[in-house]
Amino acid sequence: MKITVVGRWGAFPEQGEASACYIVEHKGYSFLIDCGSGALSTLQAYTDRRNIAAVISTHHHFDHVADLGALVYSRVVDQALNDTDQTLAIHYPEESRLHYEQYEKEPAAVIIPYDPTERLTFGGVTVTFQKTGHPVPCYAVKLEAEGRTIVFTADAVYDEKLAAFAKRADLLIAECSFYAGQDAGAFGHMTSVECGRLAALAGVQELWLTHLPHFGEVAELKREAEATFGGSVKLAEAGLTMQAE
Ligand SMILES: [Zn+2]
Ligand SMILES: [Zn+2]
Repeated sequence: MKITVVGRWGAFPEQGEASACYIVEHKGYSFLIDCGSGALSTLQAYTDRRNIAAVISTHHHFDHVADLGALVYSRVVDQALNDTDQTLAIHYPEESRLHYEQYEKEPAAVIIPYDPTERLTFGGVTVTFQKTGHPVPCYAVKLEAEGRTIVFTADAVYDEKLAAFAKRADLLIAECSFYAGQDAGAFGHMTSVECGRLAALAGVQELWLTHLPHFGEVAELKREAEATFGGSVKLAEAGLTMQAE
């Protein structure tokens, strides 16, 4: 399976960029995790929007859903032009239905609640969930295919249960909203040091820092995470890819 970063910003995107969005592709099937602000424009540099079969939405905060409506409209237009007959399936946390009803537009898009205790399969990729500490219902996502594992924390406070969820993953994509020494937990987020600690505890191969803050020098986040995690650490950026196989 291949994962590509579309957007790396928390809250809102910097000029010409996007907030939370990742493309997952496996054996010709493609789906998104989150579809934040600027995502639809940016992702077209990396994949054909008409082939996206599904979106897994971790939670309804704007920096994770702002372009969902635009993606639905693109599917309405692309279907009308006979450029695709693919329906977009939007999988959302069942507690948050009111926030997703507006995206249902058959036959272009359907909304499907997920029960976080279930295992979903997307084109051969198994997806499981774990609730995170965040002001609204929010779920970390684990992707497994052919013995490889990628885990995305979504938005989360530091919690050792997340390390168990990410145990021995090939890649951990962790939200890194604050710098060392700041009180990220008060805002429902993690610091660079906590991301590194999570990666070390889970024993993952590689750590990507994402959901980055709009203050300070983001390169510093990488150095701070490296102080607690001895494996490979990368700052997410649009186009960063891992082919896990
Ligand atoms: Zn967020
Ligand atoms: Zn959030």
